[in-house]
Amino acid sequence: MSVTVVGSANLDTTLRVVRIPGPGETVMASSIARSPGGKGANQAVGAARSGGADVRFVAALGRDADGDALLASLTGAGVGTDAVRRLADAPSGSALITVGDDGENSIVVVAGANAALTDLDENELAAVAAADVVLACLEIPMVTVVRAAREAARFVLNAAPSTPLPEDLWPHVDVLVVNEHEARDLTGAADLADAVDRLAGRVRALVVTLGARGAVVVSDGVRTSVPSTPVTAVDTTGAGDCFCGVLAARLAAGDDLVTATRWGSAAGALAVQRPGAADATPTHAEVAAALT
Ligand code: ADP
Repeated sequence: MSVTVVGSANLDTTLRVVRIPGPGETVMASSIARSPGGKGANQAVGAARSGGADVRFVAALGRDADGDALLASLTGAGVGTDAVRRLADAPSGSALITVGDDGENSIVVVAGANAALTDLDENELAAVAAADVVLACLEIPMVTVVRAAREAARFVLNAAPSTPLPEDLWPHVDVLVVNEHEARDLTGAADLADAVDRLAGRVRALVVTLGARGAVVVSDGVRTSVPSTPVTAVDTTGAGDCFCGVLAARLAAGDDLVTATRWGSAAGALAVQRPGAADATPTHAEVAAALT
């Protein structure tokens, strides 16, 4: 059960505020914390730590202290990093995250080294080709996402953050995972049900995550609602990434998409109860216990 994640890594700086400031507004933060993040890294940690899969990560980091911290976090979670590049001429990616008292967040990302992953070398391609499931997000150049999709035995695309998808990517997507905002952005549909219908018509299988409301799965023309566990969210950063990592791990283990979504949803509900992104990732045992 092997998963290769092709994606981004960022060092997150998180500011806790009573509420997220609007345009032109200044608010005071009650704390500042730095922790590992980036969609790809969070997904890789989720797949390894919560999903129990054998995971390799394909990514680019700067040759800097942030890159060292990110690499240590990945290896600490059991993620294989032989296909992680270190670049001398670009800083590691970083993100500035504001988290409100309600657990909601707003995020600004500086791509840094992530933007330099414009191709895949022989070792990186081998990591993609060897995996049972390949998971990619859109915080890296689209050309690399398309290349990975072409090489993958089974390709799960987390189409986040919202970006239009090139036509030549769609046929390679085995499972598309989006949240409700991304579902609307990708289709232009104002109504969620309409967006789900349109996306389901374009890919083999679809998962739309709905935050506290869980997720909806459409596979083989059958639509299934997977509710989440009611919990008190303290920080929703990375919940969707953890969800995707676990989903990919469970698919690689042979689960059907609805079962894999239940696992992802249970992991997401645990992750939102803890601060941080990768650091909030629950263990495989915790997720298994939550499902019994
Ligand atoms: P994203 O972070 O990409 O916007 P979501 O917010 O939809 O993704 O969260 C992904 C999954 O994490 C959800 O499908 C759900 O299972 C779980 N989750 C997220 N927020 C909550 C919450 N407040 N309560 C319970 N589960 C949650």
